[in-house]
Amino acid sequence: VGTPSKVWLGVPLREDNEIIGVMCLQDYNDENKFTKEDLNGMEFIANQIAIAIQRRTNLDNLVEARRSAENAALAKQQFMSTMSHEIRTPLNEVIGITNLLLQGNPREDQMEFLKTLRFSANHLLTLVNDVLDYSKMESGNLVFEKSQFNLYDFIEEINRSYAFRSKDKELQFIFEKDDNLPEEIIGDPIRLNQILSNLLSNALKFTMKGSITVAVTEIARKGNTSTIRFSVSDTGIGIPPEMQERIFESYTQATTDTTRRFGGTGLGLAICKKLIELMGSKIQLDSMPGEGSRFFFEVDYEIGENFPGRIKGEMADNYEGLTGKKVLVAEDNKINFFVANKFLQSWGVNVSHAENGLIALEMIGREKYDLILMDLHMPVMDGVEASRIIRNSENTSIKDLPIVALTAAIMSESQDKIKDIFINDYVLKPFKPKDLYDKILRHIR
Ligand code: ADP
Repeated sequence: VGTPSKVWLGVPLREDNEIIGVMCLQDYNDENKFTKEDLNGMEFIANQIAIAIQRRTNLDNLVEARRSAENAALAKQQFMSTMSHEIRTPLNEVIGITNLLLQGNPREDQMEFLKTLRFSANHLLTLVNDVLDYSKMESGNLVFEKSQFNLYDFIEEINRSYAFRSKDKELQFIFEKDDNLPEEIIGDPIRLNQILSNLLSNALKFTMKGSITVAVTEIARKGNTSTIRFSVSDTGIGIPPEMQERIFESYTQATTDTTRRFGGTGLGLAICKKLIELMGSKIQLDSMPGEGSRFFFEVDYEIGENFPGRIKGEMADNYEGLTGKKVLVAEDNKINFFVANKFLQSWGVNVSHAENGLIALEMIGREKYDLILMDLHMPVMDGVEASRIIRNSENTSIKDLPIVALTAAIMSESQDKIKDIFINDYVLKPFKPKDLYDKILRHIR
């Protein structure tokens, strides 16, 4: 107002009228008085600036809201991941000790309790793994392994474990397998197992009488690629048409009383769907309420080279063949070592113990072992690092030492690292005694 030498415009924007935008419009001198038009023009410009700054503030608020939502999601993911890992350690111990007790010829009544204990612990473990997997998937952190595995062994393993569980429920278990399936394929056996286990557990859970059928068929072969269809069908309660899409959403079940009647979280199928999508395919469903359900999917696998002299579905039936062998167990968790040690000793193995990777390296420098069982997560030096050092050793006897890793997580962060370290094999914790035995026998010197 008047005849200032400069005109400044302040634009109040916030509720507290703090002025956050100031600009110099023009130099004025005494001869150059304001006209009404000047003032109108300035008012117009001021309004435009105010609108622009208001827009910018809104945008800033949006960016800020998004950032805090992302932070919250990250915090949730980290919390889930940490908690699941933390819960898994003691749970592995419970399962390990239960397996040990079951081996020690318990009384018949104790046997029942122990089997229930093992079932519940395994169930809890599946839930924890599901939650962890789901949060990994949400954050895009899921790693897929690409390794060669024997499809016949894989099928046999599934067959054995579910035929047994079906018998418990007096259900017929039918396994249909194509004769021309490739023997060796390249992919992620753990994820495939996870998908089929989820589908089979559901089939078992929702079927009261009749049968469960697993079918594995090759539906096409082009060059070195085989398209394999996996299908799990049951004669269970079925799924109403209007729910057939929705059950694949997370935390969704077909009816409101499903949890009460059958338990579960509603995460299993969401995980299956996502895993199958990540494998470049799609899960499909045919179902009629009261008649049963059939879940199936088709995956392209690269065909691997056959190992000559290998027997299809070869599995050891007894625990012989390890007597007198020297195995070093690198494991920091006392109870895990205790459990592994008990089993190894019962198979006649001569066991030594190292509490971390560094001690393990010192020990294999001093003495010759036939195999090392290596936990991947250890203090001081973890198993990944220790394995890398072993494989880079100039001493061929150390360099070629068979390494079987013990890893808690099918979704372990170290999965991508495992590929680079050339371990011979790995056993998932909590280990199944038979699995541990088979893997050791396969690789031991
Ligand atoms: P959960 O089994 O933990 O409830 P899922 O995601 O595996 O979670 O399954 C979601 C829902 O889909 C189940 O609660 C059930 O209502 C339905 N469902 C899945 N599989 C079957 C099946 N084989 N037969 C009948 N209903 C099924």
